[in-house]
Amino acid sequence: MVEVSNLKKSFGTLEVLNNVSFEVKKGEVVAVIGPSGSGKSTMLRSLVHLEQVSGGSICVEGDYLVKEGVYTNQQGIKRVTSKMGMVFQHFHLFPHLTVRGNLELAPRLVKGETKEESRKKAEELLQKVGLADKAEVYPAKLSGGQKQRVAIARALMMSPAIMLFDEPTSALDPELTGEVLQVIKQLAREHMTMIVVTHEMGFAREVADQIIFMDNGEIIEVGTPDQLFLNPRFERTKAFLQRSL
Ligand code: ADP
Ligand code: MG
Repeated sequence: MVEVSNLKKSFGTLEVLNNVSFEVKKGEVVAVIGPSGSGKSTMLRSLVHLEQVSGGSICVEGDYLVKEGVYTNQQGIKRVTSKMGMVFQHFHLFPHLTVRGNLELAPRLVKGETKEESRKKAEELLQKVGLADKAEVYPAKLSGGQKQRVAIARALMMSPAIMLFDEPTSALDPELTGEVLQVIKQLAREHMTMIVVTHEMGFAREVADQIIFMDNGEIIEVGTPDQLFLNPRFERTKAFLQRSL
C-alpha cells in the first residue's frame, strides 16, 4: 500500500534522510522508533508533502507522489496526500473552532460535503473516540488526551486509507497517554493501515506488525516486534532498546 524507496533529504548541509526504504502492506501497523533527531518526523512529513525530498520515491496505492526524485503535478500531489491522515504531537487543532467545527471544516471545504453529511460523520467519529458530549466545546477547554482524540477524529473525517501518527502521546501527561493509545489500538483492530512514530515501546510491541528502527537518517533494522525486542541484529538497535525499556 505504501512503498518508499531510497528517500533522501537534507536541510542545508545536514543530511537527514539517507536512502530510507520500506513498505507498508494494507491493514498493517508499522511502528517507527529511534532516537531524537534520527529523521522520524521528516520521513513522516515527507509522505504527506510537508517536506520536499531531494531523491527517492514515494508510492501510495500505486500512485506516485515522487518518483526517483521527480514530483508529480499538483493534482497528483493532492490525490496522493489526500489518502493519508496525519496526527501530530501537538494536536494542531484550530483554537477558534469548536470540536465539531474542527472536524467538519476540511470535509466541507475540500470535499464539498453537505452540512448534513459532515455533521453525521462528525457525530459518529466523536462517538468512536469517546467525545460525543464535547462537540460544542472549544479546544482550550479540553485535556491533552481529549485534544489528541479530537485530532484523530478530525483526520478520520477525510476517510484516509492510511493514518500517520507522529509521537501522538509525547506531549501528554502520562495518565492521559492510555486513552489516546486505546483509540489507536481500536483502529488497529479495525485493520486501519497505520504508521506510528512512538516512544511507547510497550504499545509498539503490542500493536505493531513491523517495527522500523531509525538512527541518524537511516533505517538500521526492520522486524517483527519479537525479532526486534528479543533478538536485535545490530548493536545500535540493542543499545537504543536498552535505553528505552
Ligand atoms: P526525529 O523526529 O527523529 O526527532 P526530525 O526528523 O525531526 O527527527 O529531525 C531530523 C534532523 O533534521 C534533526 O537533526 C533536526 O534538527 C533536523 N531538522 C528537522 N527539521 C528541520 C528544519 N526545518 N530545518 C533544519 N533542520 C531540521
Ligand atoms: Mg520527531
